[in-house]
Amino acid sequence: MARKKPGQAAGSLVNVAVLAAIRSPLTYLVPNSLEVRPGQRVHVPLGTRRATGIVLEPVSRVAPGFKVREILGVVDPEPLLSPELLTLGLWMAEYYVAPVGEVFRAMLPLRSETRRVRFLILTDRGRQELRDLESSLLEEIRGGAEAKFLRYLADQSGTSAGATLEGIRRKSSRIATELVTHAVAEGWVAVSEQERDRGQRKVFSVRLAGPLPEHPPRLSPVARRILEALDQRGPVVDHRELLKAARGDLSHLKKLQAGGLLELGESRDFSDRTPQDKKESVELTSAQTSVLGDLTALLASRQFHAVLLHGITASGKTEIYLRLIARCLEQGRAALMLVPEISLTPSVQSQFLAWFGSQVAVLHSGLSETERHEAWWRARRGEAKVVLGTRSAVFAPLADLGVVIVDEEHDSSYKQEETPRYHGRDGAVVRARLAQALVVLGSATPSLESYWNARTGKYLLLKLEERIGGRSLAAVEIVDMRQEFRETHTQVPISRRLKQEIEAQLQSGAQTMILLNRRGYSWFLLCRSCGETHRCVNCSISLTYHRREHKLICHYCGYTAGVPSQCASCGSEHLHYVGEGTEKLEAKLTELFPAARVARLDRDVAQRAGQYRKILTDFRQRKIDMLVGTQLISKGHDFPGVTLVGVVSADQGLGMPDFRAAERTFQLLTQVAGRAGRGDSPGRVLVQTFYPEHYAIRLAADQNYEGFYSKELRFRRMMHYPPCAALANLIAQGTKLEQAAKVAGEIGRFLERVQRTSPGLKVLGPSAAPLARIEGRFRIQFLLKASSRASLNDILRRLADHCEDKGIPPPAVMIDMDPVSIM
Ligand code: ADP
Ligand code: ZN
Ligand code: ZN
Repeated sequence: MARKKPGQAAGSLVNVAVLAAIRSPLTYLVPNSLEVRPGQRVHVPLGTRRATGIVLEPVSRVAPGFKVREILGVVDPEPLLSPELLTLGLWMAEYYVAPVGEVFRAMLPLRSETRRVRFLILTDRGRQELRDLESSLLEEIRGGAEAKFLRYLADQSGTSAGATLEGIRRKSSRIATELVTHAVAEGWVAVSEQERDRGQRKVFSVRLAGPLPEHPPRLSPVARRILEALDQRGPVVDHRELLKAARGDLSHLKKLQAGGLLELGESRDFSDRTPQDKKESVELTSAQTSVLGDLTALLASRQFHAVLLHGITASGKTEIYLRLIARCLEQGRAALMLVPEISLTPSVQSQFLAWFGSQVAVLHSGLSETERHEAWWRARRGEAKVVLGTRSAVFAPLADLGVVIVDEEHDSSYKQEETPRYHGRDGAVVRARLAQALVVLGSATPSLESYWNARTGKYLLLKLEERIGGRSLAAVEIVDMRQEFRETHTQVPISRRLKQEIEAQLQSGAQTMILLNRRGYSWFLLCRSCGETHRCVNCSISLTYHRREHKLICHYCGYTAGVPSQCASCGSEHLHYVGEGTEKLEAKLTELFPAARVARLDRDVAQRAGQYRKILTDFRQRKIDMLVGTQLISKGHDFPGVTLVGVVSADQGLGMPDFRAAERTFQLLTQVAGRAGRGDSPGRVLVQTFYPEHYAIRLAADQNYEGFYSKELRFRRMMHYPPCAALANLIAQGTKLEQAAKVAGEIGRFLERVQRTSPGLKVLGPSAAPLARIEGRFRIQFLLKASSRASLNDILRRLADHCEDKGIPPPAVMIDMDPVSIM
């Protein structure tokens, strides 16, 4: 083998993570004409097609009998991923037993640098055909759809296929795509593909030029909407976001700028000026100052440190994060902050923009591909030194990272529930270690894992034990719904006590939040004659009734069905809607309190564009008295006017066959209780439950985190669950039950053999998974417990190898290391 420069030069071998569902890197030969570096994107042959991959490391040999193929070309002149991100990706692939190509695919911006544009070109035969048609004596032939189409193409040159189709659609009533297919088949038209650079579109930061004048000039509706949106979201807003909200275009902004009402900033201008607006505007409390001091000292050490910041709700954690990031920037280093769901907390985003202006790049799944791509590149080019994002922002291409913050670190949305099944928080800790950075995990209700890590000295524990302004935590009262039933003999969602409290709120003009962690109208449709419930055809769960759509919907796969007028199994018409969801509760509250302004917030509402933010804004501006919602309302919001929180059914999650059921219930109740009393008046919380003595409910009512932690830890230790043991969830799945069973049999035999040599391994199962069927796949479950993650990981990787040897395709075995949900 020819060897020039070690590993990188022509004629040598490199490993490439091919962006496909392939478990391991593949080895390729670097042709003489090329020089490649780790982190660079390359095109490689894969089977009969051309694939993209990331160059990993040089290797000196390949397995005997393996025919090495040559790299076809490089995509970018420079490596796209830093050594730090390469290492992070490789760690993830190994730790989560995920295909290495899938991990890197998740890391990269989705869009490629160039886009393929397809053109339709009239061929000579097409031109001939057009002449023939035009010389026809029959008008219907001369003016027919084919003739129009060919004439259109003859007139247009250089228009893309998409635009051409649009053009034809306007000219001809016949379905354009059909015409094209026909013309291509006849050889009249050829399709050519070209790669084109994607132009970088400019992004402006917009802010008001000053306070709006008392007698504003006459404005168009669009202009008014722009100013309103800016006022709501400001002080500084990305122009694209503004235009989306106001349904306008850039010319509207330019006009307002010319009129002196707003400023458009193109570059860093705002980061120089805007930060002063809000910075230091609040003075930190002594508790905040002390925590910030500790964190700043750790930051200055330029070494890896992990801190768990356990700060109760409204203790002012966000203010600390902002200042810590500002210090980090002062040192010339970059900062990353992860939040559970950004679109759900617009206020954090505007705080970041106010503090750091155009140095911020926002990365989350709600962005369009183009927006994501731009944000990614701004971070990669070093223009954005602060990234605010959700889970996948853990891969943000920031160089010289100083601090990584994971806000609400307990939140389950940090876990990706599809391949690669990584945990964003754990990835953030690994990333910080690689970057020699400080990582801060913050929460009012830390996960058991993180608190255990703090207790055992792996993380440093910092606490904020008081609310800002000396406010007390809300007083929580438990309403025993069994008692309520005994006394009233009816089962109603709102107890007499809660009703009375809501009335008092409405009288005094204070605001109320009502939590019911179940969306839709009713839980399911039950036949009173035969007991049949209407189930999803793909999943083993009941369909939920949604009244707005008047449909039965599966909350797992989205399958929808019409509402039947009679039972499908016995024909009875006695169908009964059982249980209530937020949609029904909203209707019920409107009926109970006709004078109140009631709104609802759940995932169904959040899907409607603009609706979500509008409700949040209206609630903040007290245009809404009562907000009903799912756990979405518990997340991080700061509404000073809320003094009452009602929890309609605290038991919702407790019945789940999941070892985290109690932890989730405790977190949800504590977080939602934390929404009350954040303003000047103290808050109260009413928790309705059928299990008033359950420890998760009792300790949440006492807001006793330590108490919950100790009690829950005892249970986890006894049952060998995390954090006291390493856990993995294995699911054999197939569209036929026999397929899944066959795979499960293979896994079972393998695990039996392994158990003989690994006495620490405990295997539960095989058994039907709690959700025995999802999206048409049957699921058979094994839970693996081991004393260490390393040994468990080793077993999982051997299992994956074994499955590969046996020809079991990867989708048939789901491996979930450190599962968050085991349903
Ligand atoms: P957490 O993230 O801990 O729930 P926040 O950071 O949202 O708390 O702070 C709660 C509220 O208190 C916010 O409205 C915030 O602006 C305000 N706040 C935070 N720190 C201070 C301070 N030192 N002085 C006055 N108000 C503060
Ligand atoms: Zn029936
Ligand atoms: Zn379904």
